[in-house]
Amino acid sequence: MLLLMDTIKLNLKDKSYNIKIGKGILKAIEFQKFGASKYAIITDSNVRKLYGEKLQELIRNQRCQVNLFAFSAGENSKNLTQTEQVGRKLVREGFDRNSMIIALGGGVVGDLAGFLASFYKRGIDYIQIPTTLLAQVDSSIGGKTGVNIPEGKNLFGSFYQPKAVFIDIEFLKTLPENEIKNGLAEIIKYGMVQSYELFEYLEQNFSKRTSDFYLKIIKKSVAIKAKIVEKDEREQELRKILNYGHVVGHAVETTEEYKRISHGEAVGLVMVYEGKISNKLGLLNRKDLERQNQLIQAVGLPITYKGNLDNLIEIMKRDKKVKSEKINFVLPTMIGKVKQKGRQIAFPINVFLIRKCLRSEL
Ligand code: ADP
Ligand code: ZN
Repeated sequence: MLLLMDTIKLNLKDKSYNIKIGKGILKAIEFQKFGASKYAIITDSNVRKLYGEKLQELIRNQRCQVNLFAFSAGENSKNLTQTEQVGRKLVREGFDRNSMIIALGGGVVGDLAGFLASFYKRGIDYIQIPTTLLAQVDSSIGGKTGVNIPEGKNLFGSFYQPKAVFIDIEFLKTLPENEIKNGLAEIIKYGMVQSYELFEYLEQNFSKRTSDFYLKIIKKSVAIKAKIVEKDEREQELRKILNYGHVVGHAVETTEEYKRISHGEAVGLVMVYEGKISNKLGLLNRKDLERQNQLIQAVGLPITYKGNLDNLIEIMKRDKKVKSEKINFVLPTMIGKVKQKGRQIAFPINVFLIRKCLRSEL
């Protein structure tokens, strides 16, 4: 059977790499070509059972040396202690500067394994094999790595690009629905900030969930993200466009009553509020705002926040992106476009106006 595989190249001079996307492409990866002395698959407890051992065998069959390292699944593992533990095991197992790390899993695995790769023996190669929709369209692309500390999320990290990314939609078959929604929220975001075509395609096809549907939306999302990262790898300005729905996202996720809110739910809610602020500023028309909100709702994400808004605003102000009484927002002007002034992409909005927008009914 012919294996169809699309390649999107992320151009960053000597750090350029290919992102391969397809169905069942894992078995087609030729690991010897990376020429590493040894391969370390880093994964979590869930993914290990589902795919870890299989991948290990696949690599072993290509006559490469490979070990598997797994830590317990969940955001709580994304910390320095866990990174140190995995790193020390690598040292004890004889992984040297010519070894390669393979990050197999969702965003937690990708962030931790990529971070470890960035400083293990002063930096070794790694590749990303993302297994959640969210990681496939977002965190595996662009080289942001890191871990959480008690003071906040992703506060220790680095920009460190992988050597390749392999996106196989077969992984999505075992992914729970709420994890799919996390990815869809991110894809709606790409549509809102950069592509009317993607947005419209989602509107018309989100209920289908066929392989073709996933391949299309992943390819489009990856292409959008790759272009943005090429232009602004270190988030000087343009890359901030991807913070749409995220400016206060972490705030929503850390409020007490919503401790258990998912990333996708937070992104969906924050897009509703940012869209509303944009509408109040006369930038985004009512019709487009409603279309955005309808799509968020249609994929099964909430569009109203039931927690305490004052609490939320306080946390927003403490967020690392916040300076004084203003909070920077990415403001859509229509579906597929955001406000841009010269190079500027995020605009300071007064907390007073934010409060007003958050409180008023839609
Ligand atoms: P995310 O990718 O959403 O940032 P995680 O890395 O925490 O976050 O992954 C979310 C959860 O999904 C974890 O419990 C992880 O073990 C699990 N998981 C990852 N990939 C798959 C998959 N393909 N099938 C089933 N569960 C998966
Ligand atoms: Zn996100």
